[in-house]
Amino acid sequence: MLLDNLKDVEERIQAACDRSGRKREDVLLVAVSKTKPVEMIEEVMTAGIVDFGENKPQELRDKYEVLPQNLRFHMIGHLQTNKIKYVIDRVVLIHSIDSIHLAEAVNAEAKKHNRIMPVLVEVNVAQEESKSGFLVEKTENAIREIAKLSNIRVEGLMTIAPFVENAEENRQYFVKLRKLSVDIAAKNIDNVTMHHLSMGMTGDYEVAIEEGATMVRVGTGIFGERNYQIG
Ligand SMILES: *Cc1c(COP(=O)(O)O)cnc(C)c1O
Repeated sequence: MLLDNLKDVEERIQAACDRSGRKREDVLLVAVSKTKPVEMIEEVMTAGIVDFGENKPQELRDKYEVLPQNLRFHMIGHLQTNKIKYVIDRVVLIHSIDSIHLAEAVNAEAKKHNRIMPVLVEVNVAQEESKSGFLVEKTENAIREIAKLSNIRVEGLMTIAPFVENAEENRQYFVKLRKLSVDIAAKNIDNVTMHHLSMGMTGDYEVAIEEGATMVRVGTGIFGERNYQIG
């Protein structure tokens, strides 16, 4: 079942790339495995997927300890500063830097571990009260602050679009994030690149790819519905 789901997602990603004249290798599929058991991750890995997204630091740590070394974890959810220690040595990218305070704390932890942590800055493009992230107009200044930190490297932007029935409603937000990343890239800020645009989830990743996503985060479309009671 998982491998059928994955095949379907792969076909849709390829089709979205074809529609928008993009190369498949310029879009990374991050399989969002939060709440799902390691057995399911192992099954998805048999299809060659090595990038997985998690949003709970302890869950990520526990899975990391038992899964193969070639797996690449992405921290995609809101991160509390006291939990950075669980992920700092176990993730390839933190997608969800949503405050200067968090950036400073990640920087301090990265320094302790003698590494430079690649991060994305989360933008609340749709200005939803319930979501974290910087407002569009505050993002450049925030990035200028974060760029001063020695053990963090900003590599792009991330957004979580609203939950909608019709993915087309989210196109406007993906366009805005893309435009923001082009604007910021043009400023040539030291220690900052805009290589990545992490946008698009199960309901809207095809539209996100058409608008320039370089990473899509797909959970339900691969692993099925999440059951938080058991999860
Ligand atoms: C859970 C989650 C996803 C995946 O959501 P689906 O709708 O299941 O694909 C993507 N991004 C973030 C930040 C998430 O928390």
